[in-house]
Amino acid sequence: MQTRYLITAAGLYADKVVRMTGMEPGMKIIPFRGEYYRLRKEKEYLVNNLIYPVPNPAFPFLGVHYTRMMRGGIEAGPNAVLAFAREGYSRWKVNFSELAETLTYKGFLRLAAKYYRTGIDELHRSYSKRAFVRALQHLIPEVGYEDLQRSGAGVRAQAIAPDGSMINEFVVLEDERIIHVLNAPSPAATSSLSIGQDVADKLFSKMG
Ligand SMILES: Cc1cc2nc3c(=O)[nH]c(=O)nc-3n(C[C@H](O)[C@H](O)[C@H](O)COP(=O)(O)OP(=O)(O)OC[C@H]3O[C@@H](n4cnc5c(N)ncnc54)[C@H](O)[C@@H]3O)c2cc1C
Repeated sequence: MQTRYLITAAGLYADKVVRMTGMEPGMKIIPFRGEYYRLRKEKEYLVNNLIYPVPNPAFPFLGVHYTRMMRGGIEAGPNAVLAFAREGYSRWKVNFSELAETLTYKGFLRLAAKYYRTGIDELHRSYSKRAFVRALQHLIPEVGYEDLQRSGAGVRAQAIAPDGSMINEFVVLEDERIIHVLNAPSPAATSSLSIGQDVADKLFSKMG
């Protein structure tokens, strides 16, 4: 297939797609799963609005919180746990070659050395409902173990630099004919129309 111009935004595989075009991403995408629970209907009265913890500025992830959904229902989460596959949407999904890539990447090793305690706590919260519930009880002590049931999960594509820092800015790489959206962390869904406009402007200027 041939094309004059190429735009990519490949999320969890963005760094690999950048490499396919002969460019060097300079960072690696590491997958962090965010798991959710759902609050039992009888306890929904406890949450009338969004309830967030005070964020830790050292991390790009907000911490577990309560979200009142547009279509009804209350979601609780997400946590941020290292996924063992880029598309590791479940706790049991392992892709050994992708996991090996993560565990041998020096940026990840530097990050893990700095935050291993947090990482272990997050893993524990992923496999233990009790630990997850305790985190949610910091926000609403009345919420009990039986009030929450497991719900879905998403995987964040977190770009990590070789020095171990988490890249929280949008990163767009370009050459004369290619535009790669390499890193689009939250709130990229909320700002997707603006990002799209920005990418379109870049393309039109390349096309003259
Ligand atoms: C748990 C969780 C909560 C979040 N909460 C929020 C929030 O509250 N607000 C907010 O704004 N954002 C939130 N986000 C972030 C938001 O989802 C991302 O910022 C956004 O989806 C990034 O968009 P993207 O197009 O770059 O990547 P994606 O949405 O991941 O899209 C990438 C696409 O590329 C495709 N693809 C990948 N590789 C290839 C390939 N080789 N060939 C062809 N196609 C390929 C994938 O299938 C996918 O469709 C959240 C994310 C998670 C995981």
